[in-house]
Amino acid sequence: MKRNWSAGQVYYNMQPTARILLAAAVLLALPAEGLPTGFSVLVQPEQRSVDLTVVSAENADYLDLGALAAALGGRLGWETVGERIEWELDGVRFVFDDLLTFFSAGDGQYQLVAPCRLDAGRFLVPVQVAVEYLPRLLPQRFSYNKLDSRLVDRGAPAQPLSGARPAQPRPPGQPRPPGAAGSGQNYRIRAVVIDPGHGGQDPGTIGRRYKLDEKQIVLDVAALVAKNLKKKSDLEVILTRGRDEFIPLAERGQIANRKGAGLFVSIHVNASSDRQLNGSSTYFLSAAKTDEERATAMLENGALKYEVDERDQGRRDEISLILQDMAQNEYLRESQELSSIIQKEIAKIKGMNDRGLRQANFAVLRGAYMPAALVETAYISNPADEKLLNSTSFRSNLAEAITAGILKYVDQYHRKLIGK
Ligand SMILES: [Zn+2]
Repeated sequence: MKRNWSAGQVYYNMQPTARILLAAAVLLALPAEGLPTGFSVLVQPEQRSVDLTVVSAENADYLDLGALAAALGGRLGWETVGERIEWELDGVRFVFDDLLTFFSAGDGQYQLVAPCRLDAGRFLVPVQVAVEYLPRLLPQRFSYNKLDSRLVDRGAPAQPLSGARPAQPRPPGQPRPPGAAGSGQNYRIRAVVIDPGHGGQDPGTIGRRYKLDEKQIVLDVAALVAKNLKKKSDLEVILTRGRDEFIPLAERGQIANRKGAGLFVSIHVNASSDRQLNGSSTYFLSAAKTDEERATAMLENGALKYEVDERDQGRRDEISLILQDMAQNEYLRESQELSSIIQKEIAKIKGMNDRGLRQANFAVLRGAYMPAALVETAYISNPADEKLLNSTSFRSNLAEAITAGILKYVDQYHRKLIGK
């Protein structure tokens, strides 16, 4: 279902702080089922796109297995009416049971994030079946395009082998160590991505006194970090943007993935309706625990609104949450380490209030398959912090601290590789 963008426009024109309050109020007011969402399948041989309704129940997202089978083909039927359903697709027999949190395919059993459920005549399976398991179990036929939340169906094989076995399950995620394939030396971190937040039509947060936009401040700091890193190391440094331009959040992680970067650091400026709040914090991707962390994530994820032709960002967002397991979770520990080291360096800056290591669900960090951190340098909403952000010496101190943090992390990582 489409979202109401006219209401959205009003929301997007509001001040960031007002946006946070409104968004928080809307989230609290929403029913537990959440926003109506969708999911689509691209049937490649026919260049046909099929939209499927995502049904939310008990905090999980489901697809109607009947609708999925209608889109993809195969034979679907009850084995035990109202209890157990089987779906044979390309020679693989999938068996789902009402209320069970696993299913079988061929000889294997697979864990689900939520139980299958029979609901008003529909047999519901978690969206995970289409997003994760079809591409995993029938890799020649299916792939999942995370960028547009679409299952790509390349069509059934010309001659389905009778009794074909599904591919061996492999652990979820892309546990590819940073750098490249291979072992030993190849796992070394060779490239890092520095991501100045916002840009173009997305100014980020805006200061009151100096009329400074977050997008300008963070571009300046990021450029200094890149310069420092090049001077002090032989790392390849990639900036997601080197000028005032708009780059979608998902694209930023993709840039890092394409370059085979070993780490990703996104640089931002925080803001709050509470003008007393000040200081810096560094975040890694995880579920937010406090209201303050949630507010910061909401502020930064607000950039998604500038990605105009995404007719159902909400859907993409929800499915991204499932995918988080498969991407950043692989690097959770490393991301926490990277964030912690960077924050310790920033805390050394004179006059800086250390808000410490934090965690929240940032869209920009979700798609990067590598250790990733997001630095909230200071609060532009706080008069003293705003003054600091306006000074070139503070920005240079920030850049030095972030550089030192990155270099310490890389050094520590390389020591671990050789077992020192
Ligand atoms: Zn930001």
